[in-house]
Amino acid sequence: MKLAKAEISPIDIYKFLPRTNCGECGEKTCMAFATKLASREARLSDCPPLLKPEFKEAYQKLWDMIKPPVKEIIIGAGDNAVRIGGKLVMYRHELAYHHPTPIAVDVTDETPEDELVKRVQGVGKFLYKYIGRELTLDAVAVRSVSDNPATFKSAVEKTMKATDLPLILCSLNPDVMEPALIAAHKRRPLIYAATADNWRDMAELALMYECPLAVFAPNDLNLLKSLTKTLVEYGVEDLVLDPGTFTGAGVSNTINNFTMIRRAVCKKKEEALGYPLIGIPMTAWLDKKAKPELKAWREGYVASMLMTRYADLLIMHSLDGWVQLPIVVWRFNIYTDPRKPVTVEPGLKVFGKPDENSPVMFTTNYALTFFTVQSDIESAGVDGYLIVVDTEGLSVQSAIAGRRLTSDMIADAIKETGIEQKVKHRQLITPGMAARLSGEIEDLSKWQVMVGPTDSSGIPKYLKEQWPPKEN
Ligand code: SF4
Repeated sequence: MKLAKAEISPIDIYKFLPRTNCGECGEKTCMAFATKLASREARLSDCPPLLKPEFKEAYQKLWDMIKPPVKEIIIGAGDNAVRIGGKLVMYRHELAYHHPTPIAVDVTDETPEDELVKRVQGVGKFLYKYIGRELTLDAVAVRSVSDNPATFKSAVEKTMKATDLPLILCSLNPDVMEPALIAAHKRRPLIYAATADNWRDMAELALMYECPLAVFAPNDLNLLKSLTKTLVEYGVEDLVLDPGTFTGAGVSNTINNFTMIRRAVCKKKEEALGYPLIGIPMTAWLDKKAKPELKAWREGYVASMLMTRYADLLIMHSLDGWVQLPIVVWRFNIYTDPRKPVTVEPGLKVFGKPDENSPVMFTTNYALTFFTVQSDIESAGVDGYLIVVDTEGLSVQSAIAGRRLTSDMIADAIKETGIEQKVKHRQLITPGMAARLSGEIEDLSKWQVMVGPTDSSGIPKYLKEQWPPKEN
C-alpha cells in the first residue's frame, strides 16, 4: 500500500540516504536527518552528498516519497517571492500546513496614478504585530478593466515602481497581457488567467516569459481538470487553479469546489489537480447594489472560509484593518505548526530602566503567556526584570502539571540569567499558578518567593501594593 504523505517513517527515508553520518546537513547522523525529513523540517537539498551524481536514483526515490501532493509554486523573484501550495495533507492536524496563504490586494489599470501608488504602498505598509510575529499583506493584483494593452502596461509599470511585492497580472485577453508581461516578466508575476477560450495563447505567454499561469474554469471542475491536463501536456508546469469564487448564495458551491479538489488530490491521489488554489473574495464587490461595508464584510468572511478550505492564494479588494486583521490572525493560527507551541526565546527580559532594587518576576516561554505578561508590565510602566523559563512553549499551569516547569529549572534560570549580579535583593515574584513550587524554589535558589497574581493583569496593582517588600 502506498503510504500517505504524513505517514512516511524515518526508516523508509533512511534506506535511501548515503548513511555516512558525515554531519554536513547539520545533524549528527543520517537517522536524525531522516527524522527531520519525515516531519518536513528539512529539505532533501540540505544533504549535500545526496546531490552527487551517484545518488541520483536515491534522490529521485526520496523525492517521489516526500514530494507534496499539491505542487509548490513560486510567484515573484528575489527576497520578496512567495511560495504557495506545497501542501502535504488535507487536514492541518495530520501534519502541518506549509506556505501560509499570501493575500494580494487589487488595483485596476484605470485607477488614477496618485491613488494607485498610495494604494500599492498601503499594501506594503500593512503590518500587525501579533504575539511577536509580524503579520503582513503579500502581493498586488493589477487588473485590466480598460482592456487596453498600453493602459494595462502603464499601470503595471507604475505598480512595479511603487512596490517590490510579487504581482498578479489579471486580464483574460492575451493581447492585453503580453506588453505588460514584457515589462514585468523578470518579476515572475502570476498570469491570470487561462480559460477554455484563450488557453493556447496564455500558455505561449507563460512558456515564453517563464511565469506561472492561473487556470480559470468557474464552477466547472471537469473543465478545470481538462484545461489543466491540456496545459501540462503543452509544457506549462507551474499552474494555479481557480474554480471560481462566488459570494452570497454561491458560497457553499465555492467551498464545495475547493474542498472536492483538495480531497481528490490528498485522499484520492488525483495528480491532475495537484496545484495551488486561488480564491478571489473580492468578487463580493461585484454586487452593485450592496453598501460598501456589506461588501467588505462579505469579502472578509469568504476570505476566512476560503483560507480554511483550501485557498493557497487570495485576491482581495478591501484594505481596511477591520477586514484584514481577522484574516491575517486567522492565517497565523491555521499555519502555526500544531506540533510545536509558539514560543519566545527564554532568558532575561528587561522592562523600562530597572535598578538593583527593581522587582524580578518569572514566566514561561509560551508566546501567548509571555506577550500577555509583557503587555501588562509595559502598560503599567513598570521598571523590572522578567525571567523567561524554557518550558518548550507550555503555559505556567500546563508546564507545572507536565513537569516541564520545576523548581530546579527556575533555580537554574536564576543562575543562568545573571540576575543575581543585577539586583541586590533576593525576592522572586512567581505567577500565582506556580505558588505550589514556592518552598522548593526557596530551598534550591536561596531566594525568597513572593506569590504574585494568578492573572498577569493583576501585576500593576500587585507591585503597587507589595513592592518593595516590607521588612520582616
Ligand atoms: S549530510 Fe546526508 S549523508 Fe551526511 S549525515 Fe546528513 S543525511 Fe547523512
